[in-house]
Amino acid sequence: MDAIIEGKKPKFNERDVIVEQPSREEAEAAVRTLIAWAGDNPDREGLVDTPKRVVSAYEEFFAGYREDPDQVLGRTFEDVEGYDDMVMLRDIALESHCEHHMVPILGRAHIAYLPDRRVVGISKLARVLDVFAHRLQIQEKLTSQVANTIDIVLQLRGVAVIIEAAHQCMTTRGVNKPGVTMVTSTLLGCFREDPTTRQEFLSMVGSR
Ligand SMILES: [Zn+2]
Repeated sequence: MDAIIEGKKPKFNERDVIVEQPSREEAEAAVRTLIAWAGDNPDREGLVDTPKRVVSAYEEFFAGYREDPDQVLGRTFEDVEGYDDMVMLRDIALESHCEHHMVPILGRAHIAYLPDRRVVGISKLARVLDVFAHRLQIQEKLTSQVANTIDIVLQLRGVAVIIEAAHQCMTTRGVNKPGVTMVTSTLLGCFREDPTTRQEFLSMVGSR
């Protein structure tokens, strides 16, 4: 274990994305340590393959570090026959992990934008959310990262993102308050400046 600390400190680039990973074996050894620390025997039959499974699960949970959200949005569709009204993707399932406890954040996101000649394939909006959600997160940062990335890459008249989510660090431990959800929003461009647009968006979110 000392070798990890002395020899190969993980390196990060300016966007907090790991550029030199510890090996898979090192990651599995770390899980083994946590099992033993929790008080169980990592060599008993039911647990012997758990480090492998946990590391594989981490590959999925944190796949977002290996993806570039700007590229996800790359292709836009220009021929929209003059459509310039709000486009909204509602109730997108959200699965993320809180960066303080590494336990799930589960909820829904609503993403809307006002096009400026170009529209984007709607699945791309959900993919951008996924890229950022599959990293260690706090909900406030996730909300603004999604909104700002869509705004900067697509150059729209406005972008709005609302996330409603339950944090297992709060619902299953700590203050133990099941059923509580946290709501965050980032409104940019027209959604911030024009009360009518903002109201239209909020009523579309609410009309379920
Ligand atoms: Zn937490």
